[in-house]
Amino acid sequence: MQFRTRAIHVGNERCPTTGAVVPPIHVASTFVQPGAGEWGEFDYSRSGNPTRKALEATLASLEAGSGALAFASGMAATHCVTAMLRSGDHIVAGSDIYGGSYRLFHKVANRAGITITLVDTTNPENLQQAFTEKTKLVWIETPGNPRMSITDIAACAEIAHEHGALLGVDSTFATPVLSRPLELGADIVMHSATKYLGGHSDLMGGALVMRDQALRDELYFVQNATGAIMGPLECFLCSRGLKTLELRVREQSRTALALAEWLDSHPQVNRVLYPGLPEHPGHEIAKKQMDSGFGGMLTFELKGNFEQTKEFVQATKLFQLAVSLGAVESLIEQPASMSHASYDAADRAKHGITDGLIRLSVGLEALDDLQADLQQAFESVR
Ligand SMILES: *Cc1c(COP(=O)(O)O)cnc(C)c1O
Repeated sequence: MQFRTRAIHVGNERCPTTGAVVPPIHVASTFVQPGAGEWGEFDYSRSGNPTRKALEATLASLEAGSGALAFASGMAATHCVTAMLRSGDHIVAGSDIYGGSYRLFHKVANRAGITITLVDTTNPENLQQAFTEKTKLVWIETPGNPRMSITDIAACAEIAHEHGALLGVDSTFATPVLSRPLELGADIVMHSATKYLGGHSDLMGGALVMRDQALRDELYFVQNATGAIMGPLECFLCSRGLKTLELRVREQSRTALALAEWLDSHPQVNRVLYPGLPEHPGHEIAKKQMDSGFGGMLTFELKGNFEQTKEFVQATKLFQLAVSLGAVESLIEQPASMSHASYDAADRAKHGITDGLIRLSVGLEALDDLQADLQQAFESVR
């Protein structure tokens, strides 16, 4: 079955008792056991829940993994991976990663004696120098955040495995519609389900999908031990979101490309960072590892200072001023003061997060309306 068919049918089998075409939401926290000391499929909802199981089946199918785990948030999912590591272990992470992942690695995982090195993974050779004997995990994000940098997943998988490390990919921006990292050699795919998977700005969730069953089982052990599971209502909403994922992402990619081309020739724009533009340094790799579009996220640099950029992001009306992304409504933000404020100022400068950067999450509104909204914002800061 093809992707969009699996998105609708895998994990969404009709209810065997009522015939309902939408499976019920199982809110029970506990399940009757066959006998004392005997275990059925479900016993307690932290350890397993039918609604969560259904969502995990869909996610595993869409990412081509052997199993998936659904979490309370994207950060809970990433935290589960770091919690599998031990004191003294080392993580090599991309320099263009989500601000919250940066904070988790540098300000929480470090407390458990885990060390972190950031490298620019747009050239996978940079990884080579960062490995130590203790490197257990390579963590990349592509397209990266907020500069839409592209990292070659297959090349990183090869290098990580040469050094006996796992490769984890935060694929929140790409979604399984555009990239399937496990097929390219990654061991773990992570998603903030809050974003495209849910797709409607109405749930918080995260997911891990693993290539190998043994790794899935190890991470399941940590998830069950630490407890940050996705709740049944969120699982239901996320399953519903997945049914339209392909249609949404394809359309958002189309609109984003059109906006990127328009912004690229706009006199008030320094440059546009969108992997679908031929001049983007990662364009060739993006073409290789992204199918049917380059995503709905795009960043551009306004010809303006910190204050003018702030004015711009406050002037749009359809693009709403908010962090988060990946939903049907378009959002706008200034990474320097918003999504990446948790980076130290020096790291922001080092990683090219300039004051003029503006990040757009392109929703499902009509292209003409979105373009007109941006144009009136340009006119307001002139
Ligand atoms: C939002 C986001 C996260 C964190 O997910 P939460 O659901 O907010 O915890 C991680 N990575 C990326 C790329 C994100 O956009």
